[in-house]
Amino acid sequence: MRILVTNDDGVYSPGIAALAQVASRFGETRVVAPDVEMSSAAQSITASRPMSYKRTDLHGLDAWRVNGTPADCVNLGASVWEKVELVLSGINLGPNLGNAMWHSGTLSGARQASLLGLRGIAFSVPAPESKPPDFEVLKPWVSSVLEILIAAPELKLVNVNFPAGVPRGILWTRQSVRHYDGKVVPGKDPMGRTHYWFTVVPIEGTDADTDRWAFERGYVSMTPLRLDLTDEEQLAHAKKLVSLKKIRFG
Ligand code: MN
Repeated sequence: MRILVTNDDGVYSPGIAALAQVASRFGETRVVAPDVEMSSAAQSITASRPMSYKRTDLHGLDAWRVNGTPADCVNLGASVWEKVELVLSGINLGPNLGNAMWHSGTLSGARQASLLGLRGIAFSVPAPESKPPDFEVLKPWVSSVLEILIAAPELKLVNVNFPAGVPRGILWTRQSVRHYDGKVVPGKDPMGRTHYWFTVVPIEGTDADTDRWAFERGYVSMTPLRLDLTDEEQLAHAKKLVSLKKIRFG
């Protein structure tokens, strides 16, 4: 099996090397990742300038850097290297839980694989400056997750989050949905000009059985996702509420 590994922290992040090293035990592995950090780039693609694909030195791995986003890396990687079956993204330095899934470049690397008809798995771990993740501790857990997910090919897109420290186990979860305050906090730069930082403070608690719930309790969270964002309940409701047959034009 051919496994393409990408991330949004950039090709030289320690997380991608750890992920690719574990992936190598499961198949022929190639790293194709952004040349600089692309965190929060979501699923953007480069459409207005040419991209390049350059070999790079990374712990003896087959590794390439791209001047593009995680989604670009997946598009380019899966096009240049044929017969890719699985795309892994991460291990991101920072969790990607709940509403972060809308912004995450890490998850978007995996989701881009889904758009190409390939399988995608995203991996994230908390990375506070005071206590950086120990990838040697995480490697056996990455391996267990890959064993479980590779054996279940019907799962096309899965978002995996590791907790802080040594995990207590692995749980299936759903995405937590929490609104955030969305505050934009002003500050001053050294020249006295006003600049702004976007801050995310959740305004609701954590529902049981969600990704964040598992994460907060020290479990590895695995959330199967889908590309279809349709709200089936609302669609059925909308059809009852507004009969479009009555609307006439001209
Ligand atoms: Mn990142």
